[in-house]
This record gives sequence, C-alpha cells and structure tokens, in this order.
Amino acid sequence: MSLTSLQDLYLDQIRDLYSAEQQIIEALPKMVDAATNPKLSAGFTKHLEQTRQQASRLERIGKRLEQKVTGKKCKGMEGLLKEGEEAVDEDGDPQMIDAALIAAAQRVEHYEIAAYGCARAYAEALGLDDDATVLQQTLDEEAETDEQLTKISLSMLNPDAQADIAIERGADRMEAPRRQSRPDDTEVRP
Ligand code: FE
Ligand code: FE
Repeated sequence: MSLTSLQDLYLDQIRDLYSAEQQIIEALPKMVDAATNPKLSAGFTKHLEQTRQQASRLERIGKRLEQKVTGKKCKGMEGLLKEGEEAVDEDGDPQMIDAALIAAAQRVEHYEIAAYGCARAYAEALGLDDDATVLQQTLDEEAETDEQLTKISLSMLNPDAQADIAIERGADRMEAPRRQSRPDDTEVRP
C-alpha cells in the first residue's frame, strides 16, 4: 500500500497492530502453560482475554473506516514472540524461567504501548474521536499489564525490596512471594 495521506498511515498502523494482537492471542496460551508462579499465569490468562477484546476493537475501527484490518504481518511482534518462545522452551529454575517470560512479555507490552500511542495520535489528528477513545483504552490496558508484570517480577526476585515498597505506599495487598507452586496450586488471591 502506498502512504500518501495520514489516513493511509493510520490504516497501515491499525493493520500492523491487528496482526500483532492476533500473534499474541496465539502465543499467550503457551506462556500461561510455561509459567510456574500462579500470579503470573493468571496475569497472562487475564491479558489473553483483554487481547481478544483489543483485537475486536481494531476490527470495529476497520468497520467504521470500511477497510479490512487483515493483510499485514507485524514483523516486530513476530521477532518479540520468537524471543518469548525461547523462554517457553527453556529448562532450568522455574523462577528464572518465569523471570525470562516476564522480560519477554514486557518487551511485547512496550512495543504495543509505542504503537498504540502513535495510532491514537493519528486518530486524534484525523478527528476520529471514537477511535482515539478505544485506542487509549487499549493503551491503558497495555500500560497496566506492564505495571503488573513489574510488580510480579519484583516480588519474585527481590522480596525484601518489594515489602519495603508495599510499606512505603501503605499497600496491604502485596503478598509474600511463593518460591514455587505445586502444579495444582492455581488459586489466585486479589
Ligand atoms: Fe494488546
Ligand atoms: Fe498486550
């Protein structure tokens, strides 16, 4: 496709994001299975559901523009998810594998944050206010996911520091990290 207008560029970005979300929908179940920490696997499961909604939002944007959102491959996400697969396939200490999964997932979130930020700015510039609103909604979810991943990572790798942060913020919902979970230990507390 040739990029002759901001509208073209906007659509190109939406298609790239749609491809990215589809690839994430395929990859996340493997990350759920590979994660040992119950909070991490629950977080991946929650984000899978969110990601499906994010893909639907892009489909609705395509409908409004009367354009298809398929037909482009997001090569950036393909590469990031290949790195994620390395963590999925790794043998070793379950906690270190969880940390590697988080490192990969945070790269994915940051890519999405950058891409949705651009797309939202283009929507605003084009006067597509409804699009800008839903793109911001997705952007907020990606940022929140990134933050949750940071919290889980901190609580796994540096429990004392995390306890200090929790006390400083007056937070009472930080739990002591669990070194390892049993396979049947899928309970997740808020
Ligand atoms: Fe997403
Ligand atoms: Fe995401």
